[in-house]
Amino acid sequence: MVYGLKNKKRNFILTCIVLISASLSLPVFSKSQFSAKEVINKVYQEVKNSEKKLSEQEKGKVADYIPELAAANPEYFAISIANINGGIESIGDFNVPFSIQSISKPFIYGLALKDHQNNSKFSVDDRVGLNATGHAFNSIVSITEKEDHKQNPMVNAGAIQVTSYLKEGAERDKWKHALNYMNSLSDGKAFLGEKVYRSESATNQNNQKIANMLFDFKMIDENPMDALDRYTKACSIMVTTKQLALMGATLANGGLNPVSKKRILSNSQVINILSQMVVSGLYENSGAWWTEVGLPTKSGVAGGLLAVYPHKYAIAVFSPRLDKAGNSVRGQAVIKKISQMYNLHLLH
Ligand code: GLN
Repeated sequence: MVYGLKNKKRNFILTCIVLISASLSLPVFSKSQFSAKEVINKVYQEVKNSEKKLSEQEKGKVADYIPELAAANPEYFAISIANINGGIESIGDFNVPFSIQSISKPFIYGLALKDHQNNSKFSVDDRVGLNATGHAFNSIVSITEKEDHKQNPMVNAGAIQVTSYLKEGAERDKWKHALNYMNSLSDGKAFLGEKVYRSESATNQNNQKIANMLFDFKMIDENPMDALDRYTKACSIMVTTKQLALMGATLANGGLNPVSKKRILSNSQVINILSQMVVSGLYENSGAWWTEVGLPTKSGVAGGLLAVYPHKYAIAVFSPRLDKAGNSVRGQAVIKKISQMYNLHLLH
């Protein structure tokens, strides 16, 4: 009896400790009781160590088709993990801002959905398309090969369309509207990287072709160079892994920013965004990625990679060396490791 009571008391105390630490501490990985800090420290070291065996080619290459990106330090490496209670843990170069590039695509897609949520006559999804292209992110072939020219919001053609459909918002300016929204997903400190923006604008002839073709095919109605300019600006938004992880945590939290507690997106808009990250987040490698990792993920050519574990947390990695499809090599190694170690595949 006494023993039973003692046990009950002990269990009660233990439960309290677990509850308190779960609410204060950061993502506790359910299957083990490792804290996020321990997990990212371990994975950070493991990825660095296993890299020693890789050839230069396997280590990847910093993007150079945008001159400003070529100047990035290839050794930058940061991991941040943010949970739906607003807790964040980071390691490495987590205070270094980098351009968000294509990781802006899922979020801007979300803003277009939001801007048109009450418009029964216009469907962003119908106009842009939602299917995998099987081609590179900047493919021109994929626009011409299908009769309806539709792609999806994660590749350049679809993303330029999406940016074209944004409204002016209270800011009376589509770009300011987009930047304010991007900031509302995080800590409000993201900004336009003028150098990257100018560098990409001076060299984006391929994207100019895509934008002009979209106009010719009547996929967009405004001046295609205005749509492209806004798209390029969105790609040039500067974030750290901490901010990116928080943006991901807003998605993991069903559209509610875990720090500001403001609702930014609806739950159903978040489902659309995450679905598109599954379909095409790593472009032509998305199928293999899904099979192996099983988390909605989005990459950017500056070396950012963001994975979302719904209802729990988001992991952001920054490392500029990329594989051939334009996805961060270390970023993929980190997320793959965490997913496999903790069995995060959403279909398991
Ligand atoms: N701004 C880049 C481009 O359009 C984005 C590409 C990317 O991150 N994959 O080329």
